[in-house]
Amino acid sequence: MKANLLWIVIVFMSLVNCGESDLVPEQEPIPDIVPEDEIITIPVVIHVVNFSPDPFDISDDKILSQIDVLNEDYRKKNSDWLKTPQEFKNLVADVGIEFVLADVDPQGNPTMGIIRTSSDVTGFDGIRFDQSVPIENLALYFTSKGGQDAWPNDQYLNIWIADLSDRNGELSLAGYANLPGADARIDGVVIDPRAFGINSSSEAAYSLGRTATHEIGHWLNLRHIYGKDGSCEDGEDGDLVEDTPVQQSQNLGNPVHPIFSCGNASMFMNFMDRVDDKSMYMFTIGQRNRMRNLFNKGGLRRELYERLYDAP
Ligand code: ZN
Ligand code: CA
Repeated sequence: MKANLLWIVIVFMSLVNCGESDLVPEQEPIPDIVPEDEIITIPVVIHVVNFSPDPFDISDDKILSQIDVLNEDYRKKNSDWLKTPQEFKNLVADVGIEFVLADVDPQGNPTMGIIRTSSDVTGFDGIRFDQSVPIENLALYFTSKGGQDAWPNDQYLNIWIADLSDRNGELSLAGYANLPGADARIDGVVIDPRAFGINSSSEAAYSLGRTATHEIGHWLNLRHIYGKDGSCEDGEDGDLVEDTPVQQSQNLGNPVHPIFSCGNASMFMNFMDRVDDKSMYMFTIGQRNRMRNLFNKGGLRRELYERLYDAP
């Protein structure tokens, strides 16, 4: 009897000891809903796929200037938001998302977050003109085909910089985005070098780095602020954001407020319209919520958030 009791005591003590010597700190639970005041910082990898027949120039500094623009526009630190018309001013949001060039690659090695290759692949080789085209045929996203493989989309935002010239060598498309829920091999945005970063010498319409602000808005689940096919409905044909007024069609160039459509003034200065860079300068609170919802439990970018949360 006594021996048995002793054994029980020893076993009990060793269990207690085991608990006490456990030095791993208790994991804080990842919140289901991203806290309102939390800044989400997204690691970015820049895949420069240069066009060897007619190479473009894009310096590390210019790439860094783009990261700076994103961190202003998504944090309401761009001073031009103050130009927002009075009637929309109280809607302007600090989205609370920041971007940083990745410093660790998917294999755990140090990186500067900018990978450069050169081939005859262009930005058009990343567009799926027809859904029957297999993803493997989109050369831009495959190193083996002259493009660059995406890094895992639960750890990084992939940005491909690639040529989008028309036959005359003119910029024909500034950029495009593959949306949340896209195949991980193509998840990210594609931007022409002339529309990337601060371009003092480039075409004025794309000189302030707002193409990336807009395209990453799509990557974060935003739709255009204007209705599909000229619709004034804010349902499936609209942007599904309550505080952006319905707008029938896109605005281009540099409009002057107020521009009316669908019976109200248009919010053409929103990053999700199509005006020139210098004429767009705000996201709304509703857009902020729609973007951040992606990272809540059940959201399409929840895994990315969980990976960020676990990172040291
Ligand atoms: Zn767009
Ligand atoms: Ca709306």
